Amino acid sequence: MFDLHTHSLLSDGELIPSELVRRAVVHGYEAVAITDHVDFTNVEHILKCLQKSELQANPNSEIEVIRGVEITHVPPEKIGALVKKATDLGAELVVVHGETIAEPVESGTNRAAVSNPAVNILAHPGLITEEEAERAKENGIYLEISSRKGHSLTNGHVAQVARNVGASVVLNSDLHSPDDFLTEEFGARILAGTGLDPDEVRKAMDVNPRKLLKELGR
Ligand SMILES: [Zn+2]
Ligand SMILES: [Zn+2]
Repeated sequence: MFDLHTHSLLSDGELIPSELVRRAVVHGYEAVAITDHVDFTNVEHILKCLQKSELQANPNSEIEVIRGVEITHVPPEKIGALVKKATDLGAELVVVHGETIAEPVESGTNRAAVSNPAVNILAHPGLITEEEAERAKENGIYLEISSRKGHSLTNGHVAQVARNVGASVVLNSDLHSPDDFLTEEFGARILAGTGLDPDEVRKAMDVNPRKLLKELGR
């Protein structure tokens, strides 16, 4: 199981990073990315804390832990500057919090994210357009299918638009609490529920996350 979008206590999650990772191991995850919400006020703090958390990582653990961020509620014209700042501060994975219908994120956020090749994942992109999805494809940005309540309301639309233009999708939990960990079985059901066929399901859960991790040099 891969999960490239989770939140710890460093933003609005319930678990400290070490417990999040330990629980991911117990759930049989191969890799987990900690992607706490960042804007210009806290990006340094969060990435510094994640670097410290690596000091106590268990070297015998099989799990890959990716240091990430989720750029959230940043005006579209300033997203590029924060992507660069986060990358310079050591973020390995950059997720942008997309235009989910469950939250009033500023319009233009999806467009700014898919136009920036340094972004890795556009999370819960809501009613993303085909043109935006095409740009995501051109820039190697993965579109997220979310298991999170609210954000998941437009999963079917995201899957369909991605399929129409040939953009890559990944399944993530957007975990905030211990109950949010994904299992292979539940993940496959969520993806099947969007209308993806078994081969596309395997890509979203396994092939694409592996490909993305490789792109990060993992
Ligand atoms: Zn988000
Ligand atoms: Zn999130």
